[in-house]
Amino acid sequence: MKNIKFCKKCVESNHRFLSTAQHTDKPGGQKKFAAFDNDGVCLSCRYFEKKEFFNWSEKEEDLKDILSKFRSNNGEYDVIVPGSGGKDSIYTSIILKEKYGMHPLTCTWAPGMYTEVGWKNYNSWINYGFDNFLLTPNKKVHKLLTKLAFLNLLHPFQPFALGQNSLPLKLAVEKNIKLIVYGDSIKERAVGKDNEAKSFNKPEFWHYRNNNDEIYLGGVNIDEIQKKYKIDRHELNCFLPVSKDVVDNSDINLLHLPDFINYNPQNNFYYAKEKTGFQVNPDGRTEGTYTKYSSLDDKLDGLHYFTWYIKTGRGRATEDAALEVRNKIITREEAVLLVKKFDGEFPKKYFKDCLNYMEISENQFWETIEKFRPNHIWQKSGNEWTLKNSVWKK
Ligand SMILES: [Zn+2]
Repeated sequence: MKNIKFCKKCVESNHRFLSTAQHTDKPGGQKKFAAFDNDGVCLSCRYFEKKEFFNWSEKEEDLKDILSKFRSNNGEYDVIVPGSGGKDSIYTSIILKEKYGMHPLTCTWAPGMYTEVGWKNYNSWINYGFDNFLLTPNKKVHKLLTKLAFLNLLHPFQPFALGQNSLPLKLAVEKNIKLIVYGDSIKERAVGKDNEAKSFNKPEFWHYRNNNDEIYLGGVNIDEIQKKYKIDRHELNCFLPVSKDVVDNSDINLLHLPDFINYNPQNNFYYAKEKTGFQVNPDGRTEGTYTKYSSLDDKLDGLHYFTWYIKTGRGRATEDAALEVRNKIITREEAVLLVKKFDGEFPKKYFKDCLNYMEISENQFWETIEKFRPNHIWQKSGNEWTLKNSVWKK
């Protein structure tokens, strides 16, 4: 897809990636993009239009019915809430426990490099009163996969994403817990034509792997990783989705709380601040965007959004602003200015940490970045790269 367009209602680009399974991603592979309708409006905005007419009290009744089917009365956990101690997981876990009488086990896939504020928020969440399963992957393997994913796919966040996507389902299988509740909904951020998830779901395709999938991690075939880097298959397992057979035989269900309860990122922020003392970015805002309250846990976060910006021309400010426009927190005009000002800002705060983590030099870093700049998105004027098309250029 070479034609860059921006949603007429929010500021999202038609180059926003959709969620994929990722364990089959090869170098040069095709990604799926968010869909726009014939009037140039993204399907997430269309979803928000529909949301205005939802009968929320009816939806809450549906939620109560669903939860009553899973609620335990023998002291066992009855729901898994994945999260990091960010605003969405705090809100979700607390209202499931306190308002709806559920018995959650929260679970966390550890960031590559915890930030100070991320670690504080994680601990405040647990201190509030939750059991939590924290999986910290083998750092030797995580570092290697992060490096390979950066060099081969310009996707240093891939190992994190793989681990984070697969952990809740694996834990549900292991602990025999039949329900997983997420605090955010993909429909609010990126909808593809064939990705209009229902409100109550079986695991999605990106949660599992098929028996015949050829598996790649960091863009390298899994057999080759084992041979070349002398890594045991067992050490790669926590990054891989469960197999489809396991899903088919387990009767596990997923739901996304925003499909049943009307809330927005700003409400959750105030809620989390009040309940657990959730702290925002101490710098006042996060590099690459104007917000201070999302994706604060990992020193790799900023690099993740920056690589996304290189590959697609839309970055972290676009992601945040589009969602805030849909939630009517800011106007489209404000969003355009915020994108112009902050999108693509280089994440310098943890740049050295990221280079050290991946064990690559600054030269190797920039060579890789340049390799992944698509011609239809970028142009060079003098020594400077600029976007050929942007939401703020007329
Ligand atoms: Zn839109």
